[in-house]
Amino acid sequence: MQIYQGKSVFSGIAIGKIRVYKKKERLVKRMKAENPDVEIERFEDAKKRGIAQLGVLYEKACREVGEANAAIFEVHQMMMEDGSYNDSVRNMIKSQSVNAEYAVAATGDNFARMFEAMDDDYMRERAADVNDISERLISILNGDDTDVSLNEEPAIIVADDLAPSETVQINKDKVLSFVTVHGSLNSHTAILARTMAIPALVGTPLPLDEHVDGKLGIVDGSDGKIYVDPDDETLSVMQKRCAGEEEKKKLLLTLKGKDNVTLDGQKILLYANIGNIKDLAAVIQNDAGGIGLFRSEFLYLEQDHYPTEEEQFRIYKQATETMAGKRVIIRTLDVGADKQCDYFGMEKEENPALGFRAIRICLTRPEIFKTQLRALFRASVYGNLAIMYPMIISVDEVRRIKAIVEEVKASLSEQGIGYGTLEQGIMIETPAAVMISDELAKEVDFFSIGTNDLSQYTLAIDRQNTKLDSFFDPHHLAILRMIRMVVENAHKAGIWVGICGELGADQELTKEFLAMGVDELSVSPGSILPLRKIILETNVAEYKEGKKQ
Ligand code: PEP
Ligand code: MG
Repeated sequence: MQIYQGKSVFSGIAIGKIRVYKKKERLVKRMKAENPDVEIERFEDAKKRGIAQLGVLYEKACREVGEANAAIFEVHQMMMEDGSYNDSVRNMIKSQSVNAEYAVAATGDNFARMFEAMDDDYMRERAADVNDISERLISILNGDDTDVSLNEEPAIIVADDLAPSETVQINKDKVLSFVTVHGSLNSHTAILARTMAIPALVGTPLPLDEHVDGKLGIVDGSDGKIYVDPDDETLSVMQKRCAGEEEKKKLLLTLKGKDNVTLDGQKILLYANIGNIKDLAAVIQNDAGGIGLFRSEFLYLEQDHYPTEEEQFRIYKQATETMAGKRVIIRTLDVGADKQCDYFGMEKEENPALGFRAIRICLTRPEIFKTQLRALFRASVYGNLAIMYPMIISVDEVRRIKAIVEEVKASLSEQGIGYGTLEQGIMIETPAAVMISDELAKEVDFFSIGTNDLSQYTLAIDRQNTKLDSFFDPHHLAILRMIRMVVENAHKAGIWVGICGELGADQELTKEFLAMGVDELSVSPGSILPLRKIILETNVAEYKEGKKQ
């Protein structure tokens, strides 16, 4: 048995035969063109066919992975029509009297090298896209343009790298997983794989030869490993884990696409909590109605510098586009307490959970806050984005936030940068916010109850301290009464209210939350379908009646 460690793109376990996929080596020869005009015509024809092929791929990707992820093929179409790319190919044919294949290959190489030399990660990755379109054009010019087929029998596909166009052509039913030696976690291929929910690894240094090809393999997407020729013990452990996952998938299949509606017709929204765009595939796979809590602080925690406006914008845009019109609630940064970022240079505090965290940092260091707000407002153009502010204790804070938001909007308008209209809400996670929720409700579009902190601050039990477990009652009457009070105050003011703390996923309380009239539960993606099952089986009126007796 050999084990190779890669970077996981999507979790899950795949067991099956490994098939090494090798791109056809295309040797492009430089040839003298007797008539350069004929070569230019050949290039124009190839481009037309290439654009048509990309159109077909776009449609297929739209059906399988959604419009936002399919957009890469529209980008490829645009790249094929790009003025500089086209000028370079035509000039080379004319000035050097060379064949179209050579001019495309040389231009492709030059452009890819130019992208590779850029500082920006995102731009560097576009080199793969230029190579992809040039390869396509060369195949067409060579008369060898049948699309790659990777769908003979179900297998783990192992490759040096896979272009987005190759990934989307994979027939999902026939591919158990894919593993690449190269490729980055942010490449479009990785994004597509996540959305297709195929266990996948990139950056896995394994040989692409007979040591791997045709052998039995196990891909463990949870820890990024591929086992080649596994021993009996590993195989049996993995088969058991795989069977467990199959069970979950069956549940998923029966409940996917159903409304979250009780037997007596009460509806509730089921959204997902995420901390990273890598979680988006799980959100889609589990049929979430939206994202109820995107913990944006992970973006700050994963870096050793303040994420720039551009870095943040790209991530918020991707989340918003991927959710294609469904609500995406992004919480502004909530560092401090248990989530410390060294580069923030915060002074050590006696009591960090009661110290500088979340909105308190944003209001004292508005430059950090404004960068995030600008990125959020800019991304709001791409779908249904909402902003949520954490750790609120007063109306004054909300008004100060609003004043900063107005400044940000004014500066965007001044610069001619567009932004959408978006909902702004607050987290109710301090007892103070609960007690003045009637006043707060007049200021915002929605509430989301953060039961993790609300429990910590109400019960005076440090959420990090496991030694206090015996004192901690997650169903404490004080918490349940507070939730009820917040829901009532929200509804009186005509705004909606959700729960995004862990208690939202507590199946023992689902009926109670329905009875209280909670409008939304935002939970980890894996909890959505089990909750949907309970909702579909609940009669709220009967439950309320039963409680009275
Ligand atoms: C909460 O406090 O309930 C919450 C959702 O926020 P976090 O767990 O990130 O503090
Ligand atoms: Mg919290």
